[in-house]
Amino acid sequence: MAADVMTVVPYQCSTAGPGLRSASSAGFVGRDESAFHRATDPNVFDWLDHVKAAAGCSHPIRLSGEVATVDRATGQLLSAARTEDEPDGEIYKPCGNRRHAVCPSCARTYQRDAYQLLRAGLAGGKGIPASVAGHPAVFVTFTAPSFGTVHTRVVNRHTCGNRRRCGCRAEPCHARRATDPTAQPCEHGQPSVCWARHEESDPRLGQPLCLDCYNYDAQVVWNHSAPELWRRTSEAIRKRLHARARQLGLPPVVQFTASGRARRVPPVKPSFGKVAEMQRRAVVHYHAIVRLDGVDLDPNAVVSPPAPFGVDDLVAAVTHAATVTFTTRPHPARPQGWRIAWGDPAKGFDVRPISADGEITDGKVAGYLAKYATKSTEATGHVSRRLDGEVIDLYANEHGSHPERLIDACWTLGGSRDWQHLRRWAHMLGFGGHFLTKSRRYSTTFRILRNARVVWRRTETGHEYADQTEEERTLIVGLLTYAGSGWRTTGDALLANTAAAMARERHEVAREEFAAVA
Ligand SMILES: [Zn+2]
Ligand SMILES: [Zn+2]
Ligand SMILES: [Zn+2]
Ligand SMILES: [Zn+2]
Repeated sequence: MAADVMTVVPYQCSTAGPGLRSASSAGFVGRDESAFHRATDPNVFDWLDHVKAAAGCSHPIRLSGEVATVDRATGQLLSAARTEDEPDGEIYKPCGNRRHAVCPSCARTYQRDAYQLLRAGLAGGKGIPASVAGHPAVFVTFTAPSFGTVHTRVVNRHTCGNRRRCGCRAEPCHARRATDPTAQPCEHGQPSVCWARHEESDPRLGQPLCLDCYNYDAQVVWNHSAPELWRRTSEAIRKRLHARARQLGLPPVVQFTASGRARRVPPVKPSFGKVAEMQRRAVVHYHAIVRLDGVDLDPNAVVSPPAPFGVDDLVAAVTHAATVTFTTRPHPARPQGWRIAWGDPAKGFDVRPISADGEITDGKVAGYLAKYATKSTEATGHVSRRLDGEVIDLYANEHGSHPERLIDACWTLGGSRDWQHLRRWAHMLGFGGHFLTKSRRYSTTFRILRNARVVWRRTETGHEYADQTEEERTLIVGLLTYAGSGWRTTGDALLANTAAAMARERHEVAREEFAAVA
């Protein structure tokens, strides 16, 4: 294979952020002469064209070897290209990381895909019928209960135009009259009152008023149990809707399984798209879209629910399901287990109908959810890779900061049999679930969106396989091996990232001008 013909000088950018930053601060001296070399190379534009697909990426994957195009029908080899004939003898693939903190460029792509995927489930498109726009749908936020009092910022009435730059005056954090018995300091002598009106950027937000009063064990167990609580909740929504269908006298639908057996299924079912948000206090909560579907003879079809069903039925089912609870298995530190439930619904369980022209539109909801899909634990101030026994002492401390105590709780509880998974997810503060999930029929998939983008890019750059039919007829087989990751030099990172930033800017200006004209 071509891989062993090549000499690759792996050079990894020292920063996780865009290579741009490290290169520009160092200037064009010393080893950053590499930027000068590349920039004065007469083939620099060929190179930029070659790396275009990965240009904005912080840490692209470099591959070498051969790419063959095969006729699907006959198996005949149509063409073969070796990466050694390309600039650098390698091809560059974006890292594809969804997290903004790791790769801003790939996260932007992921966020766009997440938006398309979530929106198609509400408005149709991308292979989803447009009729879904007529299905009852709600936007709902499932919050976690309290594990201790934390500093908060609550704005009763926003006057700002843009929530991202909100500077509105907040309510006092925890106001109590001096005569109120709950206004007394706790047993550790910490105040239980905070009169501050916290700014959005205040690092105290999400921090407990008293670290020693806070229930760390319960919070990490809750984070870990959140996916199971969601599973039970979605099951409860489904059952409630089925019960409602029986109440309305709607007959079941007969479907045939792959083996040809007939089975009777209730005539409605919900589908979901949801994201997890890690709040500042380091507890997960879910934002979900719940759409009501009908059931067809064809199990894969997405059809409207039967007429008597309306958005009120969906709101009732979701509100009922939010009261689901369960108790975890026992732990030596807590033989009765932990009771897992959503936050107190009396404090405002948030379920709102989505409509094309109302306050909550499909575009708004999809944009809101897609934004969370590129985040992880950043809001908590803790970011690390998976932790093990060798590094745990650097992060866990039972007398330390809020995140250190959470990690300590994961590690300590996870030392017990049947609870090791808490150690595995200690770096996620106990949460082991996915940040974006959807039920199978809710919408299209990330894979389909990614493939569509590849086809579009080939069309745009005038590559061979320009049209979809060509794509269907042929098969591209990559006999590629991993050559390294990251840009080869800081200079390459600088050039590629700058070119990508400029292209993005041009694209955005063009889009704004187009919008203005339209
Ligand atoms: Zn990337
Ligand atoms: Zn406060
Ligand atoms: Zn505001
Ligand atoms: Zn205390």
